[in-house]
Amino acid sequence: MSAASVRVRFAPSPTGHLHVGGARTALFNWLYARHHGGTFILRIEDTDRSRSTDENIDSIVEALQWLGLDWDEGPPAPGYRQTERLALYREHAERLVAAGRAYYCDCPPELLEAERKTAEQRKETYRYPGRCRDRELRAGALRLRIPPSGTTVVDDLIHGPVTFDHQQLDDWILVRSDGTPTYNFCVVVDDVTMRITHVIRGNDHLSNTPKQILCYEALGYPTPAFAHVSMILGSDRARLSKRHGATSVQAFRDAGLLPEAMVNYLARLGWSHGDQEIFSRDELIALFDIKDVSSAGAIFDQTKLEWLSQEYMKQMSGAQLGELIRPFVRAAGLEPPADATQLARMADTLKERARTLVEMVEVGRFYFERPREYEPKAAAKFFTPEGRERLGLLVERLQALPDFTPGALESLYRELTTGLGVKLVDLAQLTRLAVAGKTASPPIFEVLAILGREETLARLRRALEASGVAR
Ligand code: GLU
Repeated sequence: MSAASVRVRFAPSPTGHLHVGGARTALFNWLYARHHGGTFILRIEDTDRSRSTDENIDSIVEALQWLGLDWDEGPPAPGYRQTERLALYREHAERLVAAGRAYYCDCPPELLEAERKTAEQRKETYRYPGRCRDRELRAGALRLRIPPSGTTVVDDLIHGPVTFDHQQLDDWILVRSDGTPTYNFCVVVDDVTMRITHVIRGNDHLSNTPKQILCYEALGYPTPAFAHVSMILGSDRARLSKRHGATSVQAFRDAGLLPEAMVNYLARLGWSHGDQEIFSRDELIALFDIKDVSSAGAIFDQTKLEWLSQEYMKQMSGAQLGELIRPFVRAAGLEPPADATQLARMADTLKERARTLVEMVEVGRFYFERPREYEPKAAAKFFTPEGRERLGLLVERLQALPDFTPGALESLYRELTTGLGVKLVDLAQLTRLAVAGKTASPPIFEVLAILGREETLARLRRALEASGVAR
């Protein structure tokens, strides 16, 4: 097979949002396609009509777009939703009947249910006994005629060969008696007709694979290669679920994680390249190989994800981050400055101090609103009669400062500390408390220069008033 012919697909069932497990499956498929210069297809598996919704499709599409996983074929083009492909399933079912590879079964549902219950009581997997195999019925549920003995081997690219004894399998239903095709049958027909070369999916589907392989064989098609990616686990090693906290891609977006960090993190969940942790998208594409994906479950580590997010934030320019935090500032009920340069400067001072965009807004809240209160301990320490005098002096001197730049501000403060016989840190903390309401902030001269003369003076005056009331 030539490398250029790689065709892979991500096939979500739109029964909910895209979760991290699905996102990682999508990413591995995307990386595999991009690495081989192949085609990445998005297919919507919406045959379960009672649980599939258009809103969920939109949400999955939005999550993939946010992650930057673009598809070469798929919605909104028609023909990539299973509900649009019913004629294809019918056609393939008819071919199987004509070739004698499938047969109709009219066993009453109550009988099948009773047999299933008995098997369950015996702790056995239920297998349809093949009662209708040779009855040559013309209607009913359509079953695949599988070879009764022998084995089917899934030659998995991650797990190696996995053998299934046909004794474990049965003549499974391809099309129900009401004419609706079953999930496994649709998947096979879709993968065949979309000319999928590599099926990369979660290993919760491994048990479906021998059934599907037997169906490929019955249809006379070669089977694609399979790679079943292990599950993502919570810190308790149980399969990751809502119990472990938010797991949808949108929840991570709304928590202010960068998509680049998310992609990097998801790639490293089960895949590695030496000890390297940080990979650009291009590096991932160049280095990714499905064979390097581990067969063991990977534990989801929120702390590491946030560490990566911070690393990505540090590498970004203030201008980029400024635009990224704008909606988060608004979401916090604050108003970002209209001036992009000012916002960029703010972001620049905050990027070392936060792991997410949401945290960045929290840490930098004082940029967007005047302090509503002052840290009580610090106020007791700094808002003294002496402190008031110093605030007054600062107002006076800052008003008259020709250039309101970090450099000029620093020189002024140094001069004042010498004159007053105080330490620079004390004057700086007093100023921080006055402009930010707390004694922790990015470098204070930067902060003042970014706030600008007017705003700085307004805040110092308010602090002066407040400190008068407090004493
Ligand atoms: N629709 C399945 C799911 O969402 C994926 C099936 C497959 O990839 O073959 O889990």
